[in-house]
Amino acid sequence: MSPSAEILIIGGGVIGSAIAYHLARARCDVLVVERAGIAERPAASWASAGGVRRQGRHPAEAALASAAIARWPTLEAELGADLHYRQGGQLLLAETEAEAEQLGAFVAAQRAMGFGDVRLVAGAELRELAPALAPHVLAGSYSPADGQADPARTTRAFAAAAERAGARYWTHTVCLALRRESGGVVGAITNRGPVTAAWTVLAAGAWSDDLAVGVGLRLPIRTGVYQMIRSTPARPGLLAPVVSAVGRRLSLKQLPDGAFLLGGGWPGDATPERDGFTLRETSVAGGWEAAVAVVPAVGEQRIAEAWCGLEAEAADAIPLIGPAPGVEGLYLALGFSGHGFAIAPAVGEAVAEELQGRASAALAALRPERASGI
Ligand SMILES: Cc1cc2nc3c(=O)[nH]c(=O)nc-3n(C[C@H](O)[C@H](O)[C@H](O)COP(=O)(O)OP(=O)(O)OC[C@H]3O[C@@H](n4cnc5c(N)ncnc54)[C@H](O)[C@@H]3O)c2cc1C
Repeated sequence: MSPSAEILIIGGGVIGSAIAYHLARARCDVLVVERAGIAERPAASWASAGGVRRQGRHPAEAALASAAIARWPTLEAELGADLHYRQGGQLLLAETEAEAEQLGAFVAAQRAMGFGDVRLVAGAELRELAPALAPHVLAGSYSPADGQADPARTTRAFAAAAERAGARYWTHTVCLALRRESGGVVGAITNRGPVTAAWTVLAAGAWSDDLAVGVGLRLPIRTGVYQMIRSTPARPGLLAPVVSAVGRRLSLKQLPDGAFLLGGGWPGDATPERDGFTLRETSVAGGWEAAVAVVPAVGEQRIAEAWCGLEAEAADAIPLIGPAPGVEGLYLALGFSGHGFAIAPAVGEAVAEELQGRASAALAALRPERASGI
């Protein structure tokens, strides 16, 4: 008889591991199959910028974002691990009068989504929040509840907590195919043999399409390849909030050791096998220039390291979460489109609830049915 689990999760990234943790905590029988170690290159949960951002969310993600932001401040204690979490806020900056006007409407939209603490800041208040900003920066939308954390640490902490609660992890084990029998998925074939499961959760990030196509599902995702840059360490404490800008591709934060971490969605390229990446010189230069323009202190450092991560980008840039239409036994949790890290704690909780038979209202606008072709 093949090994079995009540719930089989394909992919041990932050999404698969957050789901596994919440299920194991509820005493469900969970097996996670992960082809690498936990949070290894080029997976998104290894590469991620670790921004814990609620402002700027698509309305379909608002409920998950609110739940996650409420959860982050106590997550380290809950998981028993140092996640390098810091609630330094998030600032979306305007550098021209026209951008400052746009910010007014942006702040109103955030408040309408229920993020009542988001506010427009300028002048002395802006400088006090972020003294390192360039003098030309005019205003910001400030979301004080937002912040940052270390993605690899967080992913490994979810996985370790899941294992402590009874989940089994098969790392360095490849899921070769989903097992389909009479219209439904009944587990998976791995390089350790077949596994039988009542539910199979597809949380294989950018690689989910390879497995879905084997059971006749064409997922509306493409592989996004996003670049990150880490600088040499500056004096810690120069930049408390995570900073982005209306008119630039930028996400900038300072890490505990003082290094600046630069993201913002600058593209790289995947290797043909999608097992690695190549950097684009134009993106490295562009990402660096954007950060130096907004926070000149970045320019006093050098680039210490640059890398890319591969991420499943959904056609409408919001995740697909829920039972796969027309395929019994298969549950999709993928397509996080460059912003899945912040909401992972809430996704894990909501998906675990659903797999125990309790539909989650927070997932209502993210159902896979909305996409044509699946
Ligand atoms: C550069 C970058 C910066 C980002 N910055 C932010 C940010 O600031 N804030 C934010 O909220 N989000 C951010 N994101 C997005 C966030 O990191 C992702 O949405 C999140 O990590 C997705 O997690 P995941 O578990 O779905 O995917 P992954 O972490 O990619 O995990 C999928 C796992 O599935 C495994 N797998 C794949 N195929 C198989 C198979 N056949 N068998 C077994 N295992 C398999 C992979 O090895 C991998 O470990 C960023 C993403 C990138 C790439």
